[in-house]
Amino acid sequence: MFAKIIIDQDAKALDKVFEYIVPDDLNIVVGMRVFVPFGKRVLQGFVIGLSEQCEYDKDKLKKIISAIEDFPAIKQEMLALMDFMAKKYHLKLASILRLFLPSEMREGKVKELFETHYLLNESNIAIIHKNAKKQSEIVEYLKNNNGNASSSELAQFGYSAIKTLVDKGILIKEKKEVKRRPFVISSQEKRVVLNSCQKKAVEEICDNKTYLLHGVTGSGKTEVYMNLIENVLSQGKNAIMLVPEISLTPQIMSNFKARFGDAVALLHSGLSAGERFDEWKRLFSGEARIAIGARSAIFAPIENLGIIIIDEEHEQSYISESNPRFDTHDVAEFRARYNSCPLVLGSATPSIESYEKAKQGQYQLIELPIRANGKELPKIQIIDMMSEFRAGNSGIFSVQLLSDLANVINNKKQAMIFINRRGYSSFQRCRDCGYIAKCIDCDVSLVYHREDNRLKCHYCGKQYKVLDRCPKCGGENIKQGAVGTEQVVQKIKEYFPTVKVLRMDNDTTSTKNSHQKILDEFKNSLPGILVGTQMIAKGHDFENVVLVGIVDADQSLYHADYRSTERTFQLITQVSGRAGRSESEGKVVLQTYSPRHYVYKFASNYDYKGFFRKEENIRQTSTFPPFTRILRILFSDHDENYVRELLKVCYTEIEKLKEVYDEDIIYLDAMKSPIKRIQNKYRYQIMMRLKLEKADEIENEVFKIVDNASKTSVFFEINPQNLS
Ligand code: ADP
Ligand code: ZN
Repeated sequence: MFAKIIIDQDAKALDKVFEYIVPDDLNIVVGMRVFVPFGKRVLQGFVIGLSEQCEYDKDKLKKIISAIEDFPAIKQEMLALMDFMAKKYHLKLASILRLFLPSEMREGKVKELFETHYLLNESNIAIIHKNAKKQSEIVEYLKNNNGNASSSELAQFGYSAIKTLVDKGILIKEKKEVKRRPFVISSQEKRVVLNSCQKKAVEEICDNKTYLLHGVTGSGKTEVYMNLIENVLSQGKNAIMLVPEISLTPQIMSNFKARFGDAVALLHSGLSAGERFDEWKRLFSGEARIAIGARSAIFAPIENLGIIIIDEEHEQSYISESNPRFDTHDVAEFRARYNSCPLVLGSATPSIESYEKAKQGQYQLIELPIRANGKELPKIQIIDMMSEFRAGNSGIFSVQLLSDLANVINNKKQAMIFINRRGYSSFQRCRDCGYIAKCIDCDVSLVYHREDNRLKCHYCGKQYKVLDRCPKCGGENIKQGAVGTEQVVQKIKEYFPTVKVLRMDNDTTSTKNSHQKILDEFKNSLPGILVGTQMIAKGHDFENVVLVGIVDADQSLYHADYRSTERTFQLITQVSGRAGRSESEGKVVLQTYSPRHYVYKFASNYDYKGFFRKEENIRQTSTFPPFTRILRILFSDHDENYVRELLKVCYTEIEKLKEVYDEDIIYLDAMKSPIKRIQNKYRYQIMMRLKLEKADEIENEVFKIVDNASKTSVFFEINPQNLS
């Protein structure tokens, strides 16, 4: 018997299928991990196929040494998924297979945890000596515990007594696996009666299709998910539910635990290696039937899937931007079709891409247009910060926001202040007239790069001098954006010295459970103000929050990204959704320097459809996705001359594609990456914008060209979010 094996190594030269002989005494099945000799080394590999014949010279083949585990860690479906991802994203096979396993398992760092148990052998009890008090106590203890106790339970009686009983054959030793489980705060199960929209949604979602569940914030999407999962379980099938990492709040987890108990396995970054490994194994064996987690949970080793749910489907975190690069939507789509089950994409603000697909009939649209509690969405008031500035207020807060905050404090209620801060980049803006520095060719905002004090376009690489005077009004109040959370907290304390102010951002939540501690403290602060970044935008359900302030809404608007308007709309909607979730009415104060930008008009009216139509139109005329595909090919190496040469060779070849695909290649250029060097590797890139019809075809040609030319790694990104 011969095995086809993928070596678990990064090197490009090893990225192919190798053949090995399966020794007769080894029981090897497809999907197992094995040790194999490779040159002078012993390496790990994945068996992806077995056959009676070999393709290479039989005499030169080596033998598999041994199996790493006695079960096939990679299931059949995942092998099919590997093929799919390799083709779609042009990734190395080993790098894909690694996604399917807890990393600690590959590194051999975690193993099952065992504990010794003792079983009582009653037939021998008679031989205990009358005076052996401890021994009798042990037997008594075991009798009261169904004849079975762990070594830690029996430790109280002393080791020598236990040993004597074992020697006499009264106790029988047994090794038992202990499953390490993540801690979840327990909560009471809450049952609600579904409203008619929710009921309709649950009934409709049943086919082998993709559904886009568009429900306003607070419309009760989670309740719909739970009902769908319940149905699936009752049919004997299993489920995957994905949520963005930051909304994996203890609240969500305990709700699911309360409803589904041990059937739930959690996969997220807060778990210890042992917990992650054990949760993975519970899913692998079928003991757990629902995987809940962030992006990587889409690779959960669950068979017989009855549904896949992606909550907050528009979230950026579903696209992996480090290697291997992939889009969770594609993977979910593949697995749903493989299992012939529904895929549900839920959001209050679907991505333009998904909504476009719904519009074209690829997805089925389902709507939840009202809040589950029947309340109105909070009013959003737009404040023009330029006129505040002209009227002499050069502070962070508008007069309106300050007076609303004072009200909240007087009424012993709560407010959230949201600071929009994505990445480290910032744009240049004139505080007098609102002018924003943009690229002449691409019409996206320029990004200020501190290291060389230049403004750069992340799409075409063009560089501009930093402005010291506004080219539009001549004013000198040109500023780099970005107000920080710390600064805001400090200002609030100046205005309202006695109120409790809490801060939540990357700095204050770096330690375990700090997230939860801040939220708990906020919950009990009346009045209280929570200042935070994107982290406070989602999922939280605080009944006393009546005011949300958005300090500088434009921060994400002028991010150099064709999706920046979409992101801004999503953020405003999400953050606003935190206010007025129970009895008291909520309000949102939104501060901006571009009050007439269409995004604010639509967002303040909660008009998603209007926004979609406008944005769709703009993307169409400016030839951006979803109407085209952007392909970035990123070359990086320690040797700058080598990358530059490689870039040139590839570019020349790719340019020739224009002879065949002139119509379909809308844009093609080669340039330095906006960040020239990362970890001492020089970065160059080729950017392409392709018409959709021929995009797959052209992409394949490009893959071939680059493969032929390069001996090091080159990364391909499709519609990347971050072009640094
Ligand atoms: P979404 O995820 O759509 O923002 P949630 O699922 O968090 O909304 O629901 C918002 C609140 O409404 C939750 O407190 C939830 O328990 C409650 N809720 C959901 N469905 C109903 C219902 N049919 N009747 C009453 N309350 C409901
Ligand atoms: Zn440009």
